[in-house]
Amino acid sequence: MPALVHEGWEVELPWLVQGTTTRGALGGGFDLGLFSEGSPVERVREHWEHLLAVTGMGAAMHARQVHGADVRRHHASPPGLNVVEPCDGHATSDPGVLLAVTVADCVPVFLVDPSTRAVALLHAGWRGTAGAVLERGLALMTNGASASDLRVHLGPAICGDCYEVGPEVFVALGEPTPARPTPLDLRGVLARRAMAAGVDSACVTVSEHCTRCTDSGLFSHRGGDRGRQVGYIGVRA
Ligand SMILES: [Zn+2]
Repeated sequence: MPALVHEGWEVELPWLVQGTTTRGALGGGFDLGLFSEGSPVERVREHWEHLLAVTGMGAAMHARQVHGADVRRHHASPPGLNVVEPCDGHATSDPGVLLAVTVADCVPVFLVDPSTRAVALLHAGWRGTAGAVLERGLALMTNGASASDLRVHLGPAICGDCYEVGPEVFVALGEPTPARPTPLDLRGVLARRAMAAGVDSACVTVSEHCTRCTDSGLFSHRGGDRGRQVGYIGVRA
C-alpha cells in the first residue's frame, strides 16, 4: 500500500500502526475520500478495505469532517469501516482500532502517549486550529495530567511556502497579522501550540512532505485534486 510513515516511530514505537497514504503509482488513484466526490464510492470502499487488510486492523473509525474541534473517544468497535457522527478527531486505547482522518492540504496531527499506549488523530486546517482542536485532543489524552511526555507528529500537509492565506486567517489564529495575503506555515503554528500546551519540544516532529511542492504523491485540494489521502494510527492488535 502506498504510504508515508514516521520512520522514527517505526523504530521506537513498533507497537504502533501509523502513516499517511499516498495516491500511489500507475495513474494515482488510491483515493480514500468518502465525502469529497472524487472517485466512485465503490472504489473508495475497496481502498478502505485494502487499508484495513494491509494494516492488519479489525476496525477503522472515521467521520465526515467539519473543521471543528470535537474529538471522539472510541472503544471496542464493530469490524470494518465505522463512520461515526461528524467530528475532526478520534482517540482510542484499544488495540486493533484504526483511527483515520482524510486530508489533502490540511494537517493530520498524530498524538501518542507511549506510557499508556493511547493514541489520537486530528484533522487540522486553519479553522480547526483556531478552534483549538489540538488543545482538545491533548486534553483528552492527558485528562488533566502533564502533556510533557506526549508525542506529537504533524504529518504530510501543505507547507509554509505553498499556503498563502488572507490576513483574516492570521487574525483567527492569533498570529501577527500581515497587510496582504501571505504564506502561512500551519504546521509551525501547531508545533508552537503543542509546546504552549506543555508538550516537550523534543517530542514534536514535522513531516518534510508537502502536498504541493514535494514529489510525494499526495493529493492537494489547492492543486485541484478531488481525491483524499488518509492519515491513520492505531495500536497493533
Ligand atoms: Zn510546499
